Amino acid sequence: MTTTTSPKRILVTGGAGFLGSHLCERLLAEGHQVVCLDNFSSGSLGNIAALLGHPAFSLLQQDVVDPIGLLQVDQVYNLASIASPQLYQRNPVQTLKTNVLGAMQVLDLALRCGARVLQASTSEVYGDPLVHPQPESYLGNVNPIGPRACYDEGKRCAETLFADYQRQHGLSIKIVRIFNTYGPRMLPGDGRVISSFFAHAQQGSGMPIHGDGQQTRSFCYVSDMVEGLMRMMISDAAITGPLNLGNPEEIDVLSLARKIAALTGSAAAPVFRPGQPDDPRQRKPDISQAWQLLGWAPQVTLDNGLSHTHAQLQRTAALATANRQD
Ligand code: NAD
Repeated sequence: MTTTTSPKRILVTGGAGFLGSHLCERLLAEGHQVVCLDNFSSGSLGNIAALLGHPAFSLLQQDVVDPIGLLQVDQVYNLASIASPQLYQRNPVQTLKTNVLGAMQVLDLALRCGARVLQASTSEVYGDPLVHPQPESYLGNVNPIGPRACYDEGKRCAETLFADYQRQHGLSIKIVRIFNTYGPRMLPGDGRVISSFFAHAQQGSGMPIHGDGQQTRSFCYVSDMVEGLMRMMISDAAITGPLNLGNPEEIDVLSLARKIAALTGSAAAPVFRPGQPDDPRQRKPDISQAWQLLGWAPQVTLDNGLSHTHAQLQRTAALATANRQD
């Protein structure tokens, strides 16, 4: 399947974030016009610096919970939502508002424009899963009053809103459940495990492991994820999801720390900390639907993806040093 279609006008909310900036870049490369909406709560101008001069790129600095105005677009990718547990738990009410009220603003905009709208949902809707790997039919095991609920339940409610706007108004919707994704431009030290391990490896400080380190995760490289999102957006209207996107290659957190220490040549050793409440023990996507419906499967192995990420981090560090010397 190709992700190339006739040029469209596309809104990406959260477009200055990690995933959003890669998506904007790829959409521009495919000849689309891109409007990036962001309030820069976890995203940055630096992430989109290379796009700012592009004639088909424009930036709307605002909160997604506020009315989006008279924008006319053909497609919307709704990515606005802080994804790092450490950051989204600082202001849980704002996190819920972003996920629920933000989804409503985006859905109302899509309805007015007759646009197709894709929701970036999350594997967190499965909570601490009792089924492994997780298929889309699994309804999840989420603690509705725990510290992660502002994100998990916010995303679950957003899925409900998407499904209801389709049932009630006939809106063309797509729901994608994203599993852990990594790559260049992750916010350093935002507490997400790969960015945290790289940051500690670079500093030579102990790599914090919450719990015994035997909890597993599956990590998808960002270019694979962007490809999956774009394939889903242009798929047949009958394919609404929810659809899992992620890399089923599973690794425990302790082995990941050791892998990153070896890759970076760091002497940083694991440092065990108390486990975090509601932290899932196991996480691995069942991606058979993505394969059957979109012909999508990840292409980048964990070893290759970590090497690309490391190389990019080294380039960024070298640039920062050069700038300080100027
Ligand atoms: P990120 O935090 O880097 O990006 C989120 C972006 O949304 C940031 O640019 C932030 O400034 C913006 N934002 C947050 N709240 C906003 C608001 N109220 N109004 C306007 N902009 C707002 O996170 P990411 O990793 O790029 O994630 C992007 C999307 O994908 C999120 O919706 C996230 O929930 C989802 N997701 C990501 C992962 C992952 O592993 N990266 C996994 C599951 C789901």
